Amino acid sequence: MSAAVSEGEQVKLLIKTVDFAAKKHAAQRRKDAEKTPYINHPVGVANILANEGGVSDVTVLQAALLHDTVEDTDTSYEELVAYFGETVANIVMEETDDKTLPKAERKQKQVERIEKMSREAKMVKLADKLYNLRDLNRATPEGWSEERVGEYFKWAKSVTGQIQGVNQALELELNKVYDARNV
Ligand code: NDP
Ligand code: ZN
Repeated sequence: MSAAVSEGEQVKLLIKTVDFAAKKHAAQRRKDAEKTPYINHPVGVANILANEGGVSDVTVLQAALLHDTVEDTDTSYEELVAYFGETVANIVMEETDDKTLPKAERKQKQVERIEKMSREAKMVKLADKLYNLRDLNRATPEGWSEERVGEYFKWAKSVTGQIQGVNQALELELNKVYDARNV
């Protein structure tokens, strides 16, 4: 898609997407003790893709910016289609966990689903996990034991470890993070 859209239009699309995500996540905070604004996460995931993963496909960057909107805000699939089109909306839905399921089951589903995900969704997943693992290395969320942090690293590896040859730079970075923790 991005190849058919001029550079000026791509910039406009990206800014529109950041604006949409910022408004949707406005009231949310991350789980760290400082209660960092939630929007830092989707923006950071898009930044990892663009500046570490070398991804310039605007569709993937938009999906990264929007990846938690349906799961964590009142955003609907239809709304994303209306604002950003089906391609972006479909990638976001691939990133969206079914929140009606118990947490443990939701986590297991991510492990099972990953193989069938599109290449674009896998890229977003790599950057999403890399961001969260770095966040955990930076600061432990309030109330989290070392054991819980360790479990998160193991689970993240069982998801992203199944992704190979999708984005070498990000796969390498994730492996460094897992190796440093001996997981
Ligand atoms: P997680 O424990 O999986 O929380 C991590 C998620 O929170 C990330 O995937 C990320 O999701 C988001 N997040 C927000 N802020 C941060 C941050 N600063 N650093 C990293 N991630 C952040 O999810 P739940 O809170 O839903 O907990 C459910 C699971 O935790 C269950 O499987 C349960 O069994 C387990 N658990 C384990 C305990 C233990 O002591 N071992 C205790 C309690 C629960 P996103 O990318 O969507 O923002
Ligand atoms: Zn996320």
